[in-house]
Amino acid sequence: MPPVDKPTPGRYDYIAIGGGSGGVASSRRAGSYGKKVALIEVTDKLGGTCVNVGCVPKKIMWHAADIADKIRHAKNFHFTGPGIGSPQFSWSTFVPQREAYIRRLNSIYETNLSKEGVEHHHGHAKLLSPTTVQVTRPDGSQYVLEGDAICVATGGRPTIPSESSIPGASLGINSDGFFDLTEQPKRVAVVGAGYIAVELAGIFNTLGSETHLIIRQDRVLRTFDPTVQDTITNWMQHTGIHIHKGSRVVKVTGQKGQTLSVHTDKGETLEVDCLVWAIGRHANTENLGLEELGVQLDKAGNVVVDEYQNSNVKGVYAIGDVAGRELLTPVAIAAGRRLSNRLFGGDQYKDDKLDYTNIPTVVFSHPPIGTVGLTEPQAREKYGDAVKIYKSSFRALYFSMIDEHHKEPSVYKLIVQGPEEKVVGVHIIGLGSDEVMQGFGVAVKMGARKKDLDDTVAIHPTSAEELVTLR
Ligand code: FAD
Ligand code: NDP
Repeated sequence: MPPVDKPTPGRYDYIAIGGGSGGVASSRRAGSYGKKVALIEVTDKLGGTCVNVGCVPKKIMWHAADIADKIRHAKNFHFTGPGIGSPQFSWSTFVPQREAYIRRLNSIYETNLSKEGVEHHHGHAKLLSPTTVQVTRPDGSQYVLEGDAICVATGGRPTIPSESSIPGASLGINSDGFFDLTEQPKRVAVVGAGYIAVELAGIFNTLGSETHLIIRQDRVLRTFDPTVQDTITNWMQHTGIHIHKGSRVVKVTGQKGQTLSVHTDKGETLEVDCLVWAIGRHANTENLGLEELGVQLDKAGNVVVDEYQNSNVKGVYAIGDVAGRELLTPVAIAAGRRLSNRLFGGDQYKDDKLDYTNIPTVVFSHPPIGTVGLTEPQAREKYGDAVKIYKSSFRALYFSMIDEHHKEPSVYKLIVQGPEEKVVGVHIIGLGSDEVMQGFGVAVKMGARKKDLDDTVAIHPTSAEELVTLR
């Protein structure tokens, strides 16, 4: 169904601003309760960051990179034939196929909205009051929707340094620009040390680009457990990523589409074809009418909400990245669905809210990382000497056949506390960690003790079994 281009008769029960993970999930849930719901999306594509320029195309690129590694390994499993050992990836023909899949997802999102009776409005939304939203359509025409509850789900966008702080910064691209690349850069510099920097540097390097990673500190993923930080930083270097530690970009020179010179404060100059800024994201809260309404924002510009996603203005809610807490798709979805349950689901859901503790997450690095709960420093700060660490470093069986240089590390770490040895943190890196993590996330959420893991019979031969056999 094409988007609606004017208000339909009757007052809306729920208006979601933003057609990303949170807005779509929340409005569909509200629609499933028979409510009159509108969702407003400014772009011509539903699905938001995750579908269009985030999780989904990123994971597809990760799979491509993973296959490149497998092709390199294939000779150790005695496969022969052209290309075995030295994969040739055609970025330029793969990207259109990836994007065609994304376009299919966009239309599935459209269908799913209409299945729940949610009206899709295409335009820029701005709050005029706690109950009215102005929609400005792409042709400039405007109309107003009136509703009882308004949910801000406008997500965020990549941060890029200003030209005044780093001359030439605008010659670089961000993660959105990564997905626009139609050719694989031969030489690339990625700036940043978080999820996106690690994932994109891993994809470029594994697919064969000369990859530089410029980080301010000496390790990547500083919010993760130190064991994970050390293991991934060392392995990324081992695989050929040039990590420029303790370095900041001070200037970029050159021209877009040609060689760029990236100058660091350590006096280095890197010549690259592409520079990617991956230094964090900030919330889309501008030009939404939030300040005029007195909706409270924090210093970083995120909408301040309580544990029920209520802003300080009655009837105005915020979910997902715009609320600045755990910027993950399943978090936006879970918060959005629970909000609609609470507002429209009747008595059984009257207190429904998302519990933000123990949210499992994965970094799609090479090898991948999975984590849930407290890091070792956090656990020691909270529980002191009551903390005990169980750790295993090993090579997955798969690598028994692989030459020494390509044997990826696996490190599994369990953090427990108290005489009962309650599991308060699980941090794993190694082949398959992305898929292993979810189940252990359930265990931690249920309050598992070390003994519960020990009492679970192992599945052999797997990497995951290490977590139930730690001593
Ligand atoms: P968004 O998905 O960003 O949706 C917000 C929507 O609001 C957008 O469509 C935007 O166009 C629209 N909008 C903004 N302003 C207005 C307005 N005024 N009027 C109307 N519409 C408006 N998370 C994971 O869990 N796993 C991953 O593997 C993962 N990988 C990622 C990789 C990258 C490169 C990036 C950038 C992010 C990744 N994330 C991942 C994070 C994830 O994408 C976000 O947490 C998630 O998309 C947030 O959902 P949201 O609904 O809050 O916002
Ligand atoms: P992050 O917040 O994860 O990391 C950004 C990092 O960049 C910081 O940790 C910081 O590292 C570094 N940094 C910040 N400012 C500068 C600067 N001026 N110069 C150099 N480095 C700087 O942000 P990302 O953009 O990587 O990702 C945003 C969010 O999206 C993530 O936090 C995550 O929630 C989500 N995401 C999730 C994914 C997944 O689930 N797999 C994948 C991708 C994104 P330091 O302080 O050490 O210098």
